[in-house]
Amino acid sequence: MTVRGIGEIAMHNTDVLRVKAAYVKAPFQVTYREIDLDPPAPDEALLDVLATGICGHDMEIATLLAREPTPFGHEICARVRAVGPGVTHIKAGDQVVLESSSFCGLCADCRNGRADLCRNLVSFWGRPAMGFSPAMLSPARCAVPAEGLDPAVASLAEPCGVALDMVKLSEVGMSDRVLVVGAGAIGLMAAAIIRRRTCGKVVVVDSNPGRLTLARGLGADEVFSRHEVALGELGKQFGGFHKVLVTAPPGVLNAALEAAAYGGIAVFIGFDWGDGGKVAIDTTAMHVGKKQLRASFASPAMYLPEAVELLRTGVVPGEKIVTHRMPLSRLAEALQKVRTDRQHTCKVAILPDELYRA
Ligand SMILES: [Zn+2]
Ligand SMILES: [Zn+2]
Repeated sequence: MTVRGIGEIAMHNTDVLRVKAAYVKAPFQVTYREIDLDPPAPDEALLDVLATGICGHDMEIATLLAREPTPFGHEICARVRAVGPGVTHIKAGDQVVLESSSFCGLCADCRNGRADLCRNLVSFWGRPAMGFSPAMLSPARCAVPAEGLDPAVASLAEPCGVALDMVKLSEVGMSDRVLVVGAGAIGLMAAAIIRRRTCGKVVVVDSNPGRLTLARGLGADEVFSRHEVALGELGKQFGGFHKVLVTAPPGVLNAALEAAAYGGIAVFIGFDWGDGGKVAIDTTAMHVGKKQLRASFASPAMYLPEAVELLRTGVVPGEKIVTHRMPLSRLAEALQKVRTDRQHTCKVAILPDELYRA
């Protein structure tokens, strides 16, 4: 049987599912490859993708990391089509979200209660079809039930887990003043969560007015343009921030520490590849100010059940963060939109063409 439209699924024999998965080669060359998906192995799930978010890391892959055509897409909501015989926690028909990597549960770190330190990760990364595909195979272990959520909103569960990692790492207290630097999807979700955890001021800084408007809508008390105020000055204005959450490249870390109160904690996520990742820090100011700097790295992906509940209850209002839905056949256009129109674009969810309604 032939495959016609992009994303069209055809049974190529009784057992194999043929899909057209999107691949990208830097810079921004999107192609579609026919991939045959076998029936799931005993510990696998075969998934019909419902929505996949475009993430900052996808943009890095599309901009420079993909030297060869590479499958991508890791913020995924899907419907289970079939599971292998060893899978018991999900079944065909279930709506799920995927951990982009899962802890193993077997290594010493996992057994010692530190699954967050597991390096024996289980994942769908590197499979020939990932989230930007109408269907994919994944270790079933990565799938977390997410029934009753709009799929595009549910696809925020993975980055919401990253936001949760930052919030937990910051140990935000009930009356802490908190500064969030960078109003991408992760910063915005972190701000929305923190809004419920502290009665202190929540302040968001970004360079883009559109993002600051979003931050206001998510419960930030005050928002400031990075162009108009230095973080250190902002710290003085508010009497110092007990917690500073940075979702921006590391060049901003000294300024973030300046904004922190005596005893403040700055948590950061935001890679810069190459020498941009090397930053000189004023350690004396950290000592005498009793300040801490903590790196967040949400690998393995964790807290997705919490993230699903935050989205389900609207504590994290996913509808405001997903600004666009676009079909898989227009992925190249969607990537350009994310790259060039930060003012109007926050999270873009890619839907299989069959599910997309303009
Ligand atoms: Zn992501
Ligand atoms: Zn482990």
